[in-house]
Formats: sequence, C-alpha cells, structure tokens
Amino acid sequence: MKTPLLVSLPPTFAQYLETATKRCRYEYRQAPAINHAEVHFDLAQVRYWMQLWEKQPIATGFPKWRRYTPERFENLAKMGILRVFTCDHALQMVEKCDDYIYCHPPLYDKQNQLAKAMWFALIRWACGKANWLDLGGGGQPKRWSDLNRDSHYKWLYVSKTVAAQPWRVQVCPCGWRELISEPHPCSRCAR
Ligand SMILES: [Zn+2]
Repeated sequence: MKTPLLVSLPPTFAQYLETATKRCRYEYRQAPAINHAEVHFDLAQVRYWMQLWEKQPIATGFPKWRRYTPERFENLAKMGILRVFTCDHALQMVEKCDDYIYCHPPLYDKQNQLAKAMWFALIRWACGKANWLDLGGGGQPKRWSDLNRDSHYKWLYVSKTVAAQPWRVQVCPCGWRELISEPHPCSRCAR
C-alpha cells in the first residue's frame, strides 16, 4: 500500500461507519445536513469554484491548481470519467475508473463548514460502486507534511485498522519517499 489515504470501501455506508474511528463517527454525527447530489458537468460552474478555491488562503499560502484546468475536467467529463457533486455551497469532483475513485478536494466557500459533510456524502455515494476510494495526497507529494498524521485532515476518513498502524516515512537512497507501516522494498527502484 503506497498511501494510507487509499480507502478500501465496504459495500454499504453503514459498514464503512462500523470500521471508522470513534472520532470519525463523532464528526459524522456533527456534520451539517446537506443536499448532496450528483450533477452534470458545467464548465462555468466548475470554473467559478476552481477560481474561488485559489482565492482562499490555507495554512501554507494560497492553493493552486497545477495540472488541472476547467477544460481538462471538461475532457474527463466527456470521456465519462468525471463525476460532479454539489450541495448548496460546495462542489466536489471525482474521477471514477472501474473499481477506483480518485477524489479531488471539495471546493467550497471557507465560511461554510461543509467539507466534512461533503466527504461523508461522497463516501456514502461511493460505497458499493467501487472498492477503492483515493482521498488524494498519496504517491510522492511535494511536501511530506502533506501526509503527516497530525496535520492532514484526510486521516479522519481512514478505517481504525489503518489509522492504528505505525506509519512512518521510509526514505530510499534513490530519493524516493513513501509512507509505510512495515519495511518493504522501495516502490520506485525496488531496493
Ligand atoms: Zn528507491
């Protein structure tokens, strides 16, 4: 497993909650009720939320879309890979390829505390539709602190079994870094 943020989905959301941590279940109960719905791709709508996202500072400055543009998302939608979800004040896009769903972050006005509700609604939708839900942030992130257990909000959504494992950063002589729970050969050079 390259990233603990790749969630193994059970068939139902109730089963997901059973495997979730205590804190996760608490946060689920606290999350506001939202009108979460899948919608058709709308270029203007996606552009609006992507631009809003870049105007709102996070801990490390302003977030930036690097490899993604509204037009790239539009192409993914035309290919049938992209799925778009909204509630009244947020939008989230995911890429679904068969058994695997890659999640982009929910885009929302930071004045609304909607992110958790959007994540839970997405996970509810995804249960039974795929086995793997990639919360994003795995692989080889720019800043390793992106995956730090204390600083990364996405740990909330992993199962208690995964959360309890002694994750640490393994640095290979080839320069590859990955988060592992037990020693294993480097994923890049296999040393
Ligand atoms: Zn290596």
